[in-house]
Parts: sequence; C-alpha cells; structure tokens
Amino acid sequence: MKFNTKVIHGKQQHEPATGSVMVPIYQTSTYAQSSPGKHKGYEYSRGENPTRDALENAFAAIENAKHGLAFGSGLAAIDCVIRLFSPNDHIIAGDDLYGGTYRMFTKIFSKYGLTFSFVDMNNPENVAKAITKNTKMIWLETPTNPLLKVTDIEAVTKIAKENNLITAVDNTFATPYIHNPLDLGADIVMHSATKYLGGHSDLVMGALMVNDNALHQQLKFIQFAAGAITGPMDSFLALRGVKTLAIRMERHSENGMKVATFLENHPKVAEVFYPGLTSHPNYEVAKKQMRSFGGMLSFKLKDNSQAAAFKLLENLNVFTLAESLGGVESLANHPSTMTHASIPEPERLKIGITESLIRLSVGIEDATDLIADLEQVLEMI
Ligand SMILES: *Cc1c(COP(=O)(O)O)cnc(C)c1O
Repeated sequence: MKFNTKVIHGKQQHEPATGSVMVPIYQTSTYAQSSPGKHKGYEYSRGENPTRDALENAFAAIENAKHGLAFGSGLAAIDCVIRLFSPNDHIIAGDDLYGGTYRMFTKIFSKYGLTFSFVDMNNPENVAKAITKNTKMIWLETPTNPLLKVTDIEAVTKIAKENNLITAVDNTFATPYIHNPLDLGADIVMHSATKYLGGHSDLVMGALMVNDNALHQQLKFIQFAAGAITGPMDSFLALRGVKTLAIRMERHSENGMKVATFLENHPKVAEVFYPGLTSHPNYEVAKKQMRSFGGMLSFKLKDNSQAAAFKLLENLNVFTLAESLGGVESLANHPSTMTHASIPEPERLKIGITESLIRLSVGIEDATDLIADLEQVLEMI
C-alpha cells in the first residue's frame, strides 16, 4: 500500500458492530465481564480502548511498524522510552534537541542515575566516540529543532547495531511522509502527535512505533503501569488528522520551499536553515534521506537584536506568534525566549540559538499570502 492510501486505510477496519466508517469514540473507562476475568478483550481503558487501539494501528501503519502506542503527550512517550533503562545506564543524544526533551533528560532522569552525553550528530563519528561500556541507547532527532540540522539515520543506526545499542528517532519534524526511521535501521520511532500527525493544533499527544515484539511488550507494560495514555476523544481527533497527513505534508513541503527561497534572497535576512536549500550544510544527506523537505525552517536577521526579532514577530498578520508547530496554520516562534528558554543561555548560544533566530512552521495557506506577510514585517525592521 502506498503512503497516500496507508494514512487512510492502513491497519484500519470499519467498526464491526454497525459498519461505522469512522471508529466511534468509546468514551468509557471500563467494560462489562460475564464472569470474573471473562470479557471481550477489554477490561479497563488505561490498558485498552477501542478508539485508542484504532489510532495505535494507524500510527503503526504510517511508520511501517508492527506496533504503535499512543500517549498523553510527546514527552510522555519519551518518558516511556527512558523508563526502559536503569541507574548508571548511559544515553547519547543530539546536541540540538527539542527543549523539553533536553529538560527531561537533564532535570528529571539524571536525578535517577541515568547519564547523558549530548553530541553533534552531523558527524556520526561523534556518536561512536561517545559510546561507553554503559551506553544503552542513541536518541536522535532529525531534522533538529530549531536549527534543522540533518543527521544521517542509516549511518547512526549502523554504529548502534555494531555496539548492540537501541536507536530511537524523534520523527516529529519529518513525519513518515518524509522518512521512516524503522526502515533505516532504527528500533523505536517517536512522535509528538501534537504536531503534524494530529495536524490541526487541537490536541496534545505522543506516539511510539516499533517492530520488535519484545520491545513492544516492554513499552506497552510501561504505558499501562505508569499510565500516561491518551483518551478516546483525542484518539478520534488524531485518527481524523492522520487521514490527511499525506496531502497536508505535500503542501507544507511546497510552501516551506517557497518561503525558504524568499527569505534566502531577502537583504535583511542573514541565514536561512531549511534542508531543501542547496546552501544547507547537510543538503547532500537531506537529499539522500528525505522524500521532501517539510514545513519547518528557521532564519536569522542581519540585525541580531532581540528588539528586531520581537518587532517582526509582533507585526505578523497571517502567521500567528505561538509555541508548537505542524498544524494547518502558519506559526512563528522565538526559540531563545519561547520553545528553547529551558536551555541555559551559554548552551543556547553555543548551538546557535541567537536573539534574532526565528522559527517558522509553514502552514498550508496560500504561499503568496505567507510571503507577503513576511515581506511587510521585514520592511519594518
Ligand atoms: C513538541 C515536540 C516534542 C514534545 O511533544 P509534546 O507533545 O509537546 O509533549 C518532542 N519532540 C519534538 C521534536 C517536538 O517538536
């Protein structure tokens, strides 16, 4: 089944009782039993819920995975993965991670004796060099947030396999429309389904997709035992969102390229970070690995002051100044004071999150309107 079909039909069936084409919202916490322990496969909704089951199947299908799991947020999904490990275990992660992932690793799990190394994964050799006898997993995000650095997934999973390590890939920015990390050798794919998978800025949700049955059992046990599930109403919304993922991503990518090209040619813009531009330092890897380049980009102004960035952000009309990304509407964000404020300033500057860095989530509006909006604010500064 091709991707355009898979997002709509993959591992899905009509509801058997009535033929209902959309899976109903099973808004229930519990299920009747005819005799203790005798039931139709459902006992309690923390464990299983038919609406969540349908969504978890859809999640598995779009990432070419055997199993999918849905959580109350992207961070809850990451939390579930990290709970596979024990004190003294070591995890290698990229140095340009989603701020909340970095915060969870350094502020929560380091208290429980897990250790983390953050390396620049642009060069996979940095990963190999960071491996110690306690290393258990490589956590990889590509393209990264907010600088859109691209990591060669195959190169990293090869190193992981040679060293018996698990590789987990946060595929939130790319989505399965652009690449499927499991097909490139990863063991776990993670999504903040809040973003492109949901696609309409109306829910907060996380997803994990895996092929290995034993790994799925371990993760499912943690999902059940720790309890960070998503509810039936949100599951329904995400199921509906996934159906248009392919067509939305096609437009996101088209608009992303147009906006990136416009910005790159603008005299007030210092630098544009978009993997589809030939000027991008990882363009060759991006071209090899990505089927298209998506809707996320960031740029720096020649005037590198916070005042210039704020003026631009305050005067946008079509773009909304907001956290988050991946919805149908275009959003703009100031990483150093918003999404990435949890990273200490010296770290932030070291990785290039400067005062004038602006991140855009390019939506599926008409690109002409998006470009006109950016043009009018760039004229102001
Ligand atoms: C938003 C995001 C997360 C966290 O997901 P939530 O749904 O907000 O908990 C993790 N990784 C990336 C790349 C994100 O953009």
